[in-house]
Amino acid sequence: MSETAFEPGVPSPHMHDPHLHPPANAAKDAPSWELLSTCVHCGLCLNHCPTYKVLSNEMDSPRGRIYQVLQVNEGKMPLGETFVQHIDRCLGCVACEIACPSGVKYGRIVERARAQIEQGYKRPLIQRVLRNFFYNKVIPNFRTLSFVAKLMRFYQRSGMQTLVRKSGLLKLMGVADLDKLSPQIDKEFFFSEIGKVFPAIGAKRGKVAFVAGCINNVAFSHLNRATVNVLTQNGIEVHIPEGQGCCGALHAHAGLREEARALARHNINIFLGADYDAIVTNAAGCGSNMKEYDDLLENDPAYLGRAKEFKAKMKDVTEYLAGIGLVAPKRKIGQRVAYQDPCHLANAQRIRTQPRELLAAIGCELVELPHSDQCCGSAGVYNVAQNELSMKILEKKMEDVTSVSSDMLATANVGCMIQLRAGVQQRGLTLPVKHVMELLDEAYGGN
Ligand code: SF4
Ligand code: SF4
Repeated sequence: MSETAFEPGVPSPHMHDPHLHPPANAAKDAPSWELLSTCVHCGLCLNHCPTYKVLSNEMDSPRGRIYQVLQVNEGKMPLGETFVQHIDRCLGCVACEIACPSGVKYGRIVERARAQIEQGYKRPLIQRVLRNFFYNKVIPNFRTLSFVAKLMRFYQRSGMQTLVRKSGLLKLMGVADLDKLSPQIDKEFFFSEIGKVFPAIGAKRGKVAFVAGCINNVAFSHLNRATVNVLTQNGIEVHIPEGQGCCGALHAHAGLREEARALARHNINIFLGADYDAIVTNAAGCGSNMKEYDDLLENDPAYLGRAKEFKAKMKDVTEYLAGIGLVAPKRKIGQRVAYQDPCHLANAQRIRTQPRELLAAIGCELVELPHSDQCCGSAGVYNVAQNELSMKILEKKMEDVTSVSSDMLATANVGCMIQLRAGVQQRGLTLPVKHVMELLDEAYGGN
């Protein structure tokens, strides 16, 4: 079935055809009819979709993607290159879910469509090798992650990176943009803190388990330390449970649902072991995925109940702190801060006011960024895998950033920080990009 068979704005005659239920060509984890049939093809989501706004192509819109999934499920479109390309181009930012009047769970649809691709499509060899190395060897194995990070740290700090950058080789190879997106590896990793307990400072107000993340351990250890400091300064005892692993967000978003399930089960075993008031993270992408463990494990009776218990305890750190109320900080920040909403916080978790409340509480003058809830183009590894499109989306974001006057940009997700820093660098701006927790840490006097 060719793509051109679809007319934008015209509801598919197949959308509500009961004879097509259940889907004819569904892989094990393919999006179900129940998920797909909630879409009434109204098109109200289209202008909220960053890829549609850049590409002006129905097939790169939420409605168009849902239509293609239906066509594939019905055996009317091959599970081939065209389908994979349009599904791969989706950021998973779920801005479409917020705009949708029908309550379409688009995030669940796209994750399952990617699982469908994993289960029924053979990607080119180089992609398979790279994906296998990254998702199966590096990210879930902290020893390998540490080894790869050390190699990268040597490359970055030995002068080799500067030399390579100056040589023009990166431009010649067409990877100069990718180079800007590589995170700066820390001198000291956060792995050394895993297994420790940090006592509350002052009157104890709670006890939490902290999710250290994966990349955060090697490239954002300062942020993790700042987060622990802010929590303890607020009377919270912080446990960093031994044995914790990657949350599986990148796997779930890439369609590797079995791998994501294994990681989810592992973390449920680790984090539900003690009586914590909450399980907290400073990474919006990890948090939104961990709040979906019950969806991932919906067909696992041994874990579903525990996944729901886990979900009830899972909190973004901004959500948790705004909920208990901040202890008065030692000093006020007193700067104009433009806040960029991470999609996985604002759209996926509906957390918008809490980070702003915290920034205001430490004396920041909030500057509202136009379209602050629109994706910056980071989206996990999207900025690497879909670099050209990601850079176009970032370009639009930077137009908004430069349209306001602020002293710094704040956000609440490391992926967004890396992307926004690349945008700032590209424009030659001197605008610091910080995590909300880093600003709070400064207000409490640092650690
Ligand atoms: S707004 Fe919702 S119902 Fe309308 S086309 Fe988009 S996903 Fe479908
Ligand atoms: S998740 Fe984002 S990029 Fe994907 S279809 Fe929805 S709005 Fe568009």
